[in-house]
Amino acid sequence: MELMEYGAAAKLVNSYKIKSIESRYVKDAKDAISFSKGKKIVLKVLSGKALHKSKMGLVKVGLKEPKEIEDAFKELVKKGKKFAPYKIIAQKMAQGGIEIIIGGRNDAQFGKMILLGLGGIYVETFKDFALRACPITRFDAQSMIAQLKSRKVVTYNGKMERQLEELLLKTSQLLVKTKLEELDLNPVIIREDGYDVVDIRVLR
Ligand code: ADP
Ligand code: MG
Repeated sequence: MELMEYGAAAKLVNSYKIKSIESRYVKDAKDAISFSKGKKIVLKVLSGKALHKSKMGLVKVGLKEPKEIEDAFKELVKKGKKFAPYKIIAQKMAQGGIEIIIGGRNDAQFGKMILLGLGGIYVETFKDFALRACPITRFDAQSMIAQLKSRKVVTYNGKMERQLEELLLKTSQLLVKTKLEELDLNPVIIREDGYDVVDIRVLR
């Protein structure tokens, strides 16, 4: 299995109308500062050798001041060396919201499966997720959401629930139409008025 380069993975999900947060590889701190345009950004080290970036201190969130960005960039370059070859990516900072995970994999026994869970660190903590075989219908998407113990968190608002359904349906489409071993949108930061996919991992 091979890890798809982030830009290519983002293009792939975007082509199924799942939008990923604005991102760009940056070559130095100046480049990152100009990307920020005075707004908060996130810097990350991307490397095929570092699958859990935040655990290894490779994700710096909420950077705004030029000095902050410069220091974070320097630190990431230092840390990144252990995971060479690596690149540093800058992303817009997603505001607020709830982190969910949408995943997919091509299971040897069951074929293409889609997963929905409460995101980030909670997936492992609460083991709260729903799994279905692809393709899924809107009814399946609704029942996946209803199955979560944390459903109240993601459905306290009807608009959020609709968005989640759409995302599940689009992801199921993507999984059915492509030959991927694994896909992880973890997290998708979902709000009443929209969502941001901030981390994408595709294995093919
Ligand atoms: P990894 O899963 O490899 O540790 P992520 O890219 O998912 O790395 O980042 C870890 C966490 O940092 C996310 O779960 C999220 O809480 C936060 N994060 C990452 N990127 C952004 C972003 N663009 N905006 C807001 N928060 C982010
Ligand atoms: Mg992640």
